[in-house]
Amino acid sequence: MHVAMIGTGYVGLVSGACFADFGHIVTCIDKDASKIERLRAGGIPIYEPGLDKLVADNVRAGRLFFDTDPAEAVRTADAVFIAVGTPSRRGDGHADLSYVYAAAEEIAGLVDGFTVVVTKSTVPVGTGDEIDAIIKRVRPDADVAVVSNPEFLREGAAIEDFKRPDRVVVGAHDPRAEAVMRELYRPLFLNETPILFTGRRTSELIKYAANAFLALKITFINEIANLCEAVGADVQQVARGIGLDNRIGGKFLHAGPGYGGSCFPKDTLALVRTARDAGTPVELIETTVKVNDARKKAMSRKVIGAINGKDLTGKTVGVLGLTFKPNTDDMRDAPSLDIVPALQAAGAQVQAFDPEAHEARQMLPDVAFKNDPYAVAQGADALVIITEWDQFRALDLDRIKPLMNKPVLIDLRNIYKPDDVRASGFAYTGIGRG
Ligand code: NAD
Repeated sequence: MHVAMIGTGYVGLVSGACFADFGHIVTCIDKDASKIERLRAGGIPIYEPGLDKLVADNVRAGRLFFDTDPAEAVRTADAVFIAVGTPSRRGDGHADLSYVYAAAEEIAGLVDGFTVVVTKSTVPVGTGDEIDAIIKRVRPDADVAVVSNPEFLREGAAIEDFKRPDRVVVGAHDPRAEAVMRELYRPLFLNETPILFTGRRTSELIKYAANAFLALKITFINEIANLCEAVGADVQQVARGIGLDNRIGGKFLHAGPGYGGSCFPKDTLALVRTARDAGTPVELIETTVKVNDARKKAMSRKVIGAINGKDLTGKTVGVLGLTFKPNTDDMRDAPSLDIVPALQAAGAQVQAFDPEAHEARQMLPDVAFKNDPYAVAQGADALVIITEWDQFRALDLDRIKPLMNKPVLIDLRNIYKPDDVRASGFAYTGIGRG
């Protein structure tokens, strides 16, 4: 199959490279000329484990191409994927669909012969209908079927998730489009991945329902963590105790500083908006959004409480990890973007290290960026773990203690055992460890 991927970001580049690895001929297209230039020169614009090799292998094999101009790739494509961003619209939380609709218009002018237009971007219910209408308006003669195929990959494990997903969801009404989608995902049929064919609106809603449920699960355990702190229980054990029940499951039960990232915050908001517009508010998710926002703010108070409970004038706080989760360079809606400025506002000097958060240098002014965790500990009145990169899991506490002004560890990801840290002479604060 020939595939054109419009949008070469986290989703477009990973999906494009994986489809090429399945044996399809893929052109990844992006308006951002610097991205395409970098890819053509053998570079990778994002950090995603394994992606550099996957891209290089498929470029070398003659299956993966990059272009700023979609014309040729769309003309020859069996399937054109839309994988552009759908950020929150300023003000009302609705998904901003301007990039999706612009891509649809562009595609409409270029298709030739029967073409499946596949929405991989996360889009609200009814967007497929609108894409269909745009294409019909621009090119009444076009032979196009519009399909929804939401993406469930997680940054940091994106290739594995794409190649061995729990399921693939395809919302299609045209049997010819279904056949193309089956052929594209044929290698997964061999793995016996469940491929769910649904109506287009159902498929669009599945993506939001999935993300909202996961955000709810995280928020649930975060509230239980607060309760644990108040009543002297341990959230790690509560999570294990409930997670071993198959009806609940142990995943997404890690208490922490609140969910962030490029998907949950904007997708929960968009679902709330869609539901309100439809006259059936999803109050559970509205509350989830509110509780999570409050939680991110509460984290700086937790840090201040562990230091002196007052203001942080003259104090230095060392921060480990800034990205919204490990194994990605993505800073979108990361909890650090709430926590670090709040610590600064309380008077602290912040020094930080993250292995991949290059954008943080622009996003977090007045932070002193260091090259490793030990440099962050130097002279600090407290060390705060915000993102649980593997390299922070086994720090040499005996080496860190004498570097610090005061040995205080605030572990917002519960990656340390409180007793071990205390045995090394630190004051320890975790999440939900009452
Ligand atoms: P991104 O911002 O990393 O990438 C989007 C890319 O599209 C950008 O490089 C941009 O330049 C390009 N673009 C925009 N308009 C274009 C056009 N008309 N032609 C060509 N290129 C264009 O975004 P992302 O994180 O890859 O997310 C894309 C979509 O996938 C979103 O809807 C998101 O919700 C969804 N999604 C993301 C993830 C994730 O983990 N990032 C997971 C599942 C679903």
